[in-house]
Amino acid sequence: MQFSTKCVHGNGERFKGDATGSVSMPIYQTATYAHAAVGQSTGYDYTRLQNPTREQLEKVVACLEGGLDALAFTSGMAAITALMELFAPGDNIIADCDLYGGSVRLFDNITKKNGVTVTRADLSSQDIAGLIKPDTRAVYIETPTNPMMNVIDIAALAKVTKERGILLIVDNTFLSPYFQNPLALGADVVVHSGTKFLGGHNDALAGFLVVNSKELSERLRFIIKTVGSGLAPFDSWLVLRGIKTLPVRMEKSQKNAQSVVRFLQGEERVVKVYYCGIAGSKGYDITLKQARGFGSMITFEVQSKELALHILKSVKLIRFAESLGGVETLLTYPYTQTHADVPEDVRIANGITDRVLRLSAGIEDDADLIADLQQAFNSFCG
Ligand SMILES: *Cc1c(COP(=O)(O)O)cnc(C)c1O
Repeated sequence: MQFSTKCVHGNGERFKGDATGSVSMPIYQTATYAHAAVGQSTGYDYTRLQNPTREQLEKVVACLEGGLDALAFTSGMAAITALMELFAPGDNIIADCDLYGGSVRLFDNITKKNGVTVTRADLSSQDIAGLIKPDTRAVYIETPTNPMMNVIDIAALAKVTKERGILLIVDNTFLSPYFQNPLALGADVVVHSGTKFLGGHNDALAGFLVVNSKELSERLRFIIKTVGSGLAPFDSWLVLRGIKTLPVRMEKSQKNAQSVVRFLQGEERVVKVYYCGIAGSKGYDITLKQARGFGSMITFEVQSKELALHILKSVKLIRFAESLGGVETLLTYPYTQTHADVPEDVRIANGITDRVLRLSAGIEDDADLIADLQQAFNSFCG
């Protein structure tokens, strides 16, 4: 079955618990399940452990990423937090230097407190081999990275991590499974903020871990039921519904992003545009090799902080808001929003200055998006 069909029908297996023929997956809004007698379970005991709506969503996401199992969490951060429970004091994780700010906050304030050391390095340019220590258990990356759009060669990294017996974890939020499948390139764990492209409508938080090994699946299933961060039934249904239109949304938002990139490239007050679909840019060739598209995330630097602040204040159709991957085009200021908790020196070294804006292209008409940006630039007198 092709990808778009899987988005609508999952692996083709119909949900068997419903006798009505309901085309939409029912929302099992229940906390618990009754038993006929001791030792007689329906397979469902308590929603922290099992819920049919969440399970249907997990099957669809596993199928889209080509994984053996997917686990649905209350948010992307809940998924990453649960993943960190795989590690013990003394373990080391090598993490890329440019990551979602919430992941950096987790590693710096919670993972480290729990005795796990985190080595940060620019894995888009630095060779991993020299960084691996005897206690290194995992490598953690995003590609393209949030927000600087650096691209990392997943297969090249997987070759090294496999040889050394360490896990390769890839946060695939930015391209979504529609454009990129890290497990097929050799990754061991795929992370998603389901809040973003999978949900797609800026109306629910969700997170996923997708794995290809039975052992990892069992360890993570034990963690999710124990820490209790499984996605609620209604939110599971919202994300299931969102996924049905993932392919059409990804295509349209990518097209819009390409129009916005062309506009930004022609605007003289824009100093630099970071988008992995710009031919000849750093990361372009690797993206062509490992992904089926470039996505709809754009980061750009303008001439001054004053101009950046003016644009955020002046856009009308485009909203100034944290988050990405929804049908609405959003503009974010990573410096004080998503990446505020990244230490100042790291932020600056990565290029996240007070002149940098991040745009997530939605599915509106591109002419309206460009007109909105144009009026925001034109009303600046600086
Ligand atoms: C948003 C985001 C997260 C965190 O997900 P939440 O659902 O907001 O908790 C993790 N990684 C990336 C790349 C993100 O963009």
